[in-house]
Amino acid sequence: MGLDAKPVFTPPLAPLPAAPDVVVIGAGPAGISAARTLLAAGLSVAVLEARERVGGRAVTVPLRGHPIDLGAHWLHSGPVNPLVALGAKQGERLRRAPGNGELFVKGRPASPAARAALGRAFDRAEVALTRGGREAQDRPAETALPPLGLYGRRVRLIHGLVSGRPLKEVSLQDFPTLDYAENWFIAGGLGAYVARLASGLPVRLGTPVTAIDWSGPGVAVETAVGRLTARAAILALPIAVLQSGAVRISPGLPEETEAAIRAFRPGIYEHVILHWPGAPFEEPDRLVTLLGTHPDPPGLLGRIDGTAFHYLELDQPLATGLDRRDPEAPGRFARRVLADQFGTKALAGLTVMGATAWRHDPWSRASWAVVPPGACASRARLKVPVGERLWFAGEALARVQWGTVGGAWAEGERAAREVVDHLTTGRKSAASAAE
Ligand SMILES: Cc1cc2nc3c(=O)[nH]c(=O)nc-3n(C[C@H](O)[C@H](O)[C@H](O)COP(=O)(O)OP(=O)(O)OC[C@H]3O[C@@H](n4cnc5c(N)ncnc54)[C@H](O)[C@@H]3O)c2cc1C
Repeated sequence: MGLDAKPVFTPPLAPLPAAPDVVVIGAGPAGISAARTLLAAGLSVAVLEARERVGGRAVTVPLRGHPIDLGAHWLHSGPVNPLVALGAKQGERLRRAPGNGELFVKGRPASPAARAALGRAFDRAEVALTRGGREAQDRPAETALPPLGLYGRRVRLIHGLVSGRPLKEVSLQDFPTLDYAENWFIAGGLGAYVARLASGLPVRLGTPVTAIDWSGPGVAVETAVGRLTARAAILALPIAVLQSGAVRISPGLPEETEAAIRAFRPGIYEHVILHWPGAPFEEPDRLVTLLGTHPDPPGLLGRIDGTAFHYLELDQPLATGLDRRDPEAPGRFARRVLADQFGTKALAGLTVMGATAWRHDPWSRASWAVVPPGACASRARLKVPVGERLWFAGEALARVQWGTVGGAWAEGERAAREVVDHLTTGRKSAASAAE
């Protein structure tokens, strides 16, 4: 089975109520958490989802009998990630991600001295980025980095990869201050876990929303199968989908909201999924750094869940560069850098299962939303509801956990709590009260 396989878990879903209090648009992590919160508060909800599955950019499919995530895989920042606490409470099998990785230089395990020097370069970068992020004036994250010697390129590459764009295009003030030190994985895949959390929710799949009208007292939402009205809507959609104009909103959004949406840039991060039983990576779930290859791959996760599967990660410059080539180009790239590192003989038994292309998927159009220098206020601005009828939710609104499933989950919950407050007590949201 290929990357288009059906997800490993399909949750049972409930039918939509005829006259919901709230319509939630998008059944990714933000939409799922919003729907759960609204239902728990006693409101009726209809969730409309464009794809034929729930979970958005978190989905787990079976590959050669193993559950493999095609999108999100890590539960980042354990202490603040709501899905880590929820998983533990529900008895999910969480495993802590190992803190240390593996380092190879031209195919050989690096010396302890080289490993220590790389570690020091990352520590120095961390201090400089954190300090720079506290300055009053925003600037490109790249400009905060001190000279980092031999490992400077590596540090820039990995930070650019996890940021979604090269550091010169990323806001320093927005640079994640989250603690990447405590990360978790979940047995059976993160996408399957997110799908389990949607069990029993009133979701209609295969129903893209094409227009939202908030000119009346509530909202009217247009889909190919008809129009749905509600008292309020939560737009739990990727920013890049909002930017594309795929959902017409009338009357038009206030200029500040429009400007905030426009400010984001598409963050790109793609997996090339490898099945390679003979890979030289030793331990399960370790980040592997390869140096001395031309070019060095920006990221690699070895022996996922102790299996023969590995992700070779593509950053924005690599992925968009490969766009000009044929669909097999990401696989050829992976083979080339691995052969360059370990020699062609070592590649015996390597199968490239495929490469993800979230950037071309009409329902995501990017891996997450990136704030460029100077646009740091955009996340907070989107928390201001429009006309006390439209709320935004999703990873892009998360200040600390942006670009993550945990951040999306927290933002879905926040938006839903505000809607509950508004509909049940008429209270204004904190963000709109502060306006
Ligand atoms: C390759 C990759 C790796 C990643 N790795 C990690 C990771 O390890 N850890 C992590 O925490 N995060 C990771 N992320 C990011 C994470 O997947 C996202 O931050 C998260 O899924 C965002 O959730 P969301 O609910 O905001 O948006 P989404 O998950 O995109 O959900 C939005 C939903 O809206 C639906 N939709 C879109 N348009 C319409 C429409 N017109 N009408 C109705 N529905 C619509 C979509 O189909 C989707 O279901 C990764 C992402 C990618 C692509």
